[in-house]
Amino acid sequence: MAVGSILLDFLVTKEWRRVRIVQKYGGTSVGSIERIEAVADRVAKTCSAGHQCVVVVSAMGHATDELVQLARGIDPVPEPREMDALLSTGEQVSAALLAMALHKRGWPGRSFTGWQAGIVTEQVHGSARIEDVKTEALRKSLDAGEIPVVTGFQGISGETVTTLGRGGSDTTAVAVAAALHADLCEIYTDVDGVYTTDPRVVANARKLEQISYDEMLEMANLGAQVLHPRAVENAKQFGVNLVVRSSFSNEEGTLVAESAGYEQHEVVTGIAFEREVARIAVLGIPRAQHGLATVFGYLAQRGVNVDVIVQSLVQAETVDVSFTVKEDDTQRTLRVLEELRGQLSYREIVAEQGLAKVSIVGAGMISNPGVAARMFSVLADGEISIKMVSTSEIKVSCIVESQELDRAVQQLHGAFLTENLGESFTQTTSSVAKHAY
Ligand code: ADP
Ligand code: ASP
Ligand code: MG
Repeated sequence: MAVGSILLDFLVTKEWRRVRIVQKYGGTSVGSIERIEAVADRVAKTCSAGHQCVVVVSAMGHATDELVQLARGIDPVPEPREMDALLSTGEQVSAALLAMALHKRGWPGRSFTGWQAGIVTEQVHGSARIEDVKTEALRKSLDAGEIPVVTGFQGISGETVTTLGRGGSDTTAVAVAAALHADLCEIYTDVDGVYTTDPRVVANARKLEQISYDEMLEMANLGAQVLHPRAVENAKQFGVNLVVRSSFSNEEGTLVAESAGYEQHEVVTGIAFEREVARIAVLGIPRAQHGLATVFGYLAQRGVNVDVIVQSLVQAETVDVSFTVKEDDTQRTLRVLEELRGQLSYREIVAEQGLAKVSIVGAGMISNPGVAARMFSVLADGEISIKMVSTSEIKVSCIVESQELDRAVQQLHGAFLTENLGESFTQTTSSVAKHAY
C-alpha cells in the first residue's frame, strides 16, 4: 500500500498525529461568502485536530474569466505583463477574505500573495513555471502559530508578477507542499475525486480510489481539468502525496501517488478529452529543403504549441502534414505559417475548426495492441469518424468532430469502463500487462 493512503487513513480515522497539510480550495469552493465561511470551518476543524495547515486558494467562482473579459474590453491581445498583474488580483481577494473568516473564528489566518510567499517563477507571462519556493516567510508564519493563506496561480520573477496558467493554483499547492515537506496535499474541488471520466459527461463515471502519478499526468495533459498537469508533474518529482476531494462533502477522495504495482493496473483507467481543437494541414511541403523540420522548427520558435502530428502524403518531391492546435490558437498559427512562406514554398494551408480530442488512458495498455483496435471499433460502431490518431505507451487519442465528442466519451466509457465489460477486458489482457513490466 502506498504511504499516502496510510496517511489518509490517519486523517479519516482521526487518529491523532500532528501532520502538516497543504489544503487547496478551487474557484467553486470559494465562490461566495457562504463558501468561504464553509472553507474556514473546514480549515479550523483540521487545525483543531492538531494538524498544521497551509491553505492555497483560487479566485472566487468565475472571477478570473471576468478579469480576462475586462482586459479584452480594452485590447483583444493585452500586454502580457499587465495581464498577469490583473489576473493575480482574483486570488488576492479570496486569500484576504478567507484570512478574515479564520480570524472571526479565533484562528490567526494570514494572507500571502505569491511573492510574499516566496514563489519564484521563470520570466514568462501567462504560463510561468515555478523555479523555487523560498519558504522563509511561510515557515516564520507557521512557527508563530498562524495559518498562512497563499494566493494560488501566481509568483514573481525579478520584480514582476507572473501567473502559472489557467488552473495553476493546484501547482502552487503542490509546490508549497513539496517545499515545506508537507505530509499531505489536499486539493478540494467541486467533485469528490478523480473519476474514470468527467462525471458531467458520463453520469455513471466511477470514482477512483487511487491513481498513479503517470496515469494522472497523462489524464491531466489530455484535458482532464480536475488537476493542473504541472501539479501532477511536481507531485511525482517531489513525491508529494496528493488527494483530490470535495469541499462540499466529507467523502474520502482519490489518492494520487506512486503506482501500487502492476497487478492493480487496469488496461484503461480513464477517459480524458479536450474540446475546441483545430486541425491545420500544410500541403505540398518541399522535401529538399528539410521541409518538415523547417515548418515545426519555425512554429516552435514562434511559441505555437502543436499537438497531434500526422504526415499524410509523401510524394517524390513533396510531403503533406496535418497537426492540431487549440482552436483559440488557429489564427495565430495561420499567421505564423504565412510568415514562413518567405523561407519555404509550400503549396497551401487548410484549417478545420470544430474538432475535439478523446483519449483513453491506462498503464495496463503497454504492449497491448488490442486496445487501439477496440477503441476504433467502438467509435466506428457509433458512426463517429476518426480524423487523426496518436498513441503513446499508456494512451490512445483520436481527433473527432466536436459535436460527436460527448457521445464518443460515453460509448468508450461504456465499452472500457462500465463494470462487466471493463472487467472481462482487464482479465483477458492482464497477463500481457504483467509481462510488459
Ligand atoms: P477547481 O475550480 O476546484 O480547480 P476545476 O473546474 O478546475 O475545479 O476541476 C474540477 C472539474 O474537473 C470537475 O467539476 C469536472 O467537471 C472536471 N473533470 C474533468 N475530468 C474529470 C475527471 N476525470 N474526474 C473528475 N473531474 C473531472
Ligand atoms: N484562478 C485561476 C483560473 O481560474 C487559477 C485556478 O483557479 O487554479 O484559472
Ligand atoms: Mg482547477
